[in-house]
Amino acid sequence: MLHFRAVRPLSPTFHSYHAKQVLSLPMCEEYVKLLRGYQKAVVTFSAVVDALEAAASASVHLQEYKRMARYAEQAHSNAERARIELKRHAADHGCFP
Ligand SMILES: [Zn+2]
Repeated sequence: MLHFRAVRPLSPTFHSYHAKQVLSLPMCEEYVKLLRGYQKAVVTFSAVVDALEAAASASVHLQEYKRMARYAEQAHSNAERARIELKRHAADHGCFP
C-alpha cells in the first residue's frame, strides 16, 4: 500500500478504491470457516491456560495439575494446526491477497 500511495496521490478515487477493497473482504467461504475454527481453537487454548493458572494458585493435586498441563499442550497444538491449515488454504487457493 505504501508503494501505491507513493505513485498515486490521495484523491476521492483513491478512497473509494480502498473502501471497495475493504468491503469485498472476506471473499472465500472456506477461508472464513477455517478462520472461525482457528479462533475457536485459540479461545479454547486461552481458557485452558486460565484454568491452569488458577490451578497453580490453588491447592490442586500434582497429578491433576499434570493432566491439565497436558491438555493445555494439546489445545496449543490444535490452535497451531488450525493456524497452519488456514495459511495453507490461503496459499493453495490464493484467496488471501
Ligand atoms: Zn479460499
